[in-house]
Amino acid sequence: PVPADAVWLVGLNPEQTEAVTTTEGPVLVLSGAGTGKTRVLTSRLAQILAGRRAQPWQILSVTFTNRAAREMKERVGHLVGPAAESLWLGTFHSLCVRILRRHAEAVGLKSNFTILDSDDQLRLLKQVMEGEHIDTKKWPAQALMGAIQRWKDRGLTPDKIGPDLAGDLAGGRAQVLYRHYQERLLTLNAADFGDLLLHCLTLFLSHPDALAQYQDQFRYILVDEYQDTNVAQYLWLRLLAQKHKNICCVGDDDQSIYSWRGAEVGNILKFERDFPGAKVVRLESNYRSTPHILAAASGLIANNADRLGKTLRPGIRHDPSEVEKVRVRGVWDGPEEARVVIEEIEALQRKGCSAATIAILVRAGFQTREFEERLITTGIPYRVIGGPRFYERQEIRDAMAYLRLVNSPDDGLAFERIVNLPKRGLGDAALQAVHAVARARAFPLFEAARLLVETDELKPKPRGALTKFCADVLRWRGLLDDLPHTELAEMILDESGYVEMWKNDKSAEAPGRVENLKELVRALADYENLQSFLEHVALVMENDQKDGVDKVTIMTLHGAKGLEFDNVFLPGWEEGVFPHQRAMDEGGNAGLEEERRLAYVGLTRARKRVLVTFAANRRIYNQWQSALPSRFLDELPAADIDRDAERGLIGSWQQSSRPKQPAAWAAPLRDQAGDFEAGDRVFHQKFGGGVVLAVDGDKLEIEFDQAGIKKVLDSFVEPA
Ligand code: ATP
Ligand code: MG
Repeated sequence: PVPADAVWLVGLNPEQTEAVTTTEGPVLVLSGAGTGKTRVLTSRLAQILAGRRAQPWQILSVTFTNRAAREMKERVGHLVGPAAESLWLGTFHSLCVRILRRHAEAVGLKSNFTILDSDDQLRLLKQVMEGEHIDTKKWPAQALMGAIQRWKDRGLTPDKIGPDLAGDLAGGRAQVLYRHYQERLLTLNAADFGDLLLHCLTLFLSHPDALAQYQDQFRYILVDEYQDTNVAQYLWLRLLAQKHKNICCVGDDDQSIYSWRGAEVGNILKFERDFPGAKVVRLESNYRSTPHILAAASGLIANNADRLGKTLRPGIRHDPSEVEKVRVRGVWDGPEEARVVIEEIEALQRKGCSAATIAILVRAGFQTREFEERLITTGIPYRVIGGPRFYERQEIRDAMAYLRLVNSPDDGLAFERIVNLPKRGLGDAALQAVHAVARARAFPLFEAARLLVETDELKPKPRGALTKFCADVLRWRGLLDDLPHTELAEMILDESGYVEMWKNDKSAEAPGRVENLKELVRALADYENLQSFLEHVALVMENDQKDGVDKVTIMTLHGAKGLEFDNVFLPGWEEGVFPHQRAMDEGGNAGLEEERRLAYVGLTRARKRVLVTFAANRRIYNQWQSALPSRFLDELPAADIDRDAERGLIGSWQQSSRPKQPAAWAAPLRDQAGDFEAGDRVFHQKFGGGVVLAVDGDKLEIEFDQAGIKKVLDSFVEPA
C-alpha cells in the first residue's frame, strides 16, 4: 500500500486524489484547462508503480506529443526512480510502431519496415493511379490521398469502403485504388502514418492471440488529451482495455482542436457507454491562471453552444500585486504589432522575467515571421517550436532560390534546387548533362543549361522544358529594374507554377505553405529592392542561436496544448486571421466553435499575464487591407479586460455590432467619417494624395497620384 503522504499525493485536492487513487476500473476525468489533469496522470503512474500494482512495462500511457511523453517520463522518474524508463509511454503512433515492429509479419510487413513521409505517399499513390489509367489531372492524387487518410483515421480498411463512402472520387474507383495503394506499400515494406494505427488494429482483430497478449500485458492504461483522439485511436484503446478495464482518460471537450484530423469529441460520450460503471471525476479548481485570465477564457468559451459545460474556479491565491487584467491592444499594422510585443518582452525582462517564461502563440505559421525578425534585430534569443524558423521552411527556401537565381543566375545551388520544381519533366539524364557541360566549360549551371538547350544533346521534352525555364529566368531578370520587386516576386512565384503546386496539394500543411509564401512577398515590401532583401535574409540565417540560453517560445496555438507559460502573447486577433477564414469557410459554425476552443486554449496557457493584439491593417501582397477586430474580442468579459485605456480605445468597438470597422486609433482621426464624395481631393497616410472615385459606405475607392487605384477606409483619409 502507498502511504497517504507519498510525495505525489501531497497537495492534491480531494477530487484529484480520488482520480489518482482509484487505480482500478475505468475512470474518466473531464475538466477544464489547468485543473491538473496531466498532473493526475503523472501522479497516477507513480501511485501504480509505488503500490507495485504492475511492472512498469505493464502500464501503457498515451500522450499527445513526443515532447509531452518525455516530460512525463522525467517527472515520474523523479517520483519513483528508474522504473519510469520501462513504461510504455508515448504517442499513439510511437506505441503502435513499437507493437508493429514485433508483429510486422502478421500484417504483411517485415519488422524493418520504413515509414513514408507525405511526399513519398503521394508519389506512390500517383503511380498506382497511373497504373490504373486514371487521369490524375482530372482526379488529383491529393484529393484521394486526403480521403484515404480520413478513412484510416476512422479505422477503415479498403474492404470497408462502400460506394457511399467512395462517392465519385477518382471516377468512382477510390476503393480499388485504395486497395492497390495498400498492396504497393506492403510490397515496398513501407507504411504511411495512418497505417501505423490501422495495421495495429488489423493485427489485433485478425490475431486474437496477439491481442490477448497485449490485453494481458497492459494492466493499466492512461490517456492524456483524450478529447483529441480519433476513431481508430479510440478503437485501439477499447480493444486493449477490454481485459483489465483499468483505463483512465483525461480530457476537456472545450480544448478539442483537432477535428480536422479526424478527432471526435463523441469519444468522450462513448467512454461511459463502453465502460459502464466508469467513475467520472470532475476537477473544478484551476491551478494555473489568475482569476482574470480564467474569467476571460470562461467568458469566451461560454459562447460555444456545443459543449458539455463545466465550472472552473481559481484554485490558488495569486499575489495581488501580480494580478493583472487581460490586456487587449489595437495596433496599426503587422510591423507595429511586432514592435509592441517585443517592447513588452523587453519590459518583462527588465522586471526580471526570463525569456523562458514568455510565449508568443500564433494562429497560423506565417505569423511568426514578423516576430522572428524583430527578435533577431533586438538580440533576444527565441525558438520556434513545432516547425522550422520562418526562413528555414521548405517553401520559403524554394521561393528564395527562385529569387536568388533571378537576382544572380550564377547561383548554382539555387538553380539546382528549383530547376525541376515544380516538376518540369527534367530527369536525371538531363540534369547530369547540365552538370557535365558546366564542369567541362567551367560555366555556372545556368549558363551551361542555356548552352545545352541550343544543341540537340537533350531529348525534345526535357529540352523544351529547360528552354522555357531558362527563358523565364531571363525574362524575369529583365524586369528587375522595371517592376517593383514585390510584384516581380509575385509574378515569379506565380508564373513558375510554384505557388500553384502548393495550391493543388491536398496535404494538411499545404494551405499553411501558401500563406507563408504570401508572407514572404509581404516581407519583401519592407526592403528597397530584391538585393537588399536577399542580403537581409542571408544575415538572418547566419544568426545561429546558441543552445542552453533561455529563449522566448514562438509556436502555434495547436502546438501549445497542454503547456503553460507565465507570460503569453496572442497576436493577430482579427477576423480572417483568428477566427481563421478557412475554418469558417469549410467548417461553418462548427468551424467557428473550433476556432473559439483554440482561443480558449491560447488564453488558458497563461499563468500571470496575457496581451492580445490586433492590427487595423494587414498587407496582403502589395496591398493594404483594413482588418476587422476578431469577434472573440467582443466575447471577453469587460470586467476582466484592460482595453488599453491610455490610448482612449474604450468603447470604440466594444459595443458595436458586426460588421465592424477597425478603430483607427493609430492614425490622426477625422472626427466624423462618411462625408466624402466622388471628386474630393484627399490625403492618405500611406498612399499620399489622390482623388476619390467612389464611396461605398465607409470605404473609398481612390485614385492615388502615386499608388494607383486602391480601396481604403475613410477613417484613414483626410481632406487634402
Ligand atoms: P490542460 O488542460 O491545459 O492540459 P491540465 O488540466 O492538464 O491542463 P496541469 O498541466 O496538470 O493541468 O496542471 C496545471 C498547473 O497546475 C500545473 O502547473 C500543475 O503543477 C498545477 N497543479 C495541479 N494540481 C495542483 C494542486 N493540487 N495544487 C497546486 N498546483 C497544482
Ligand atoms: Mg494537460
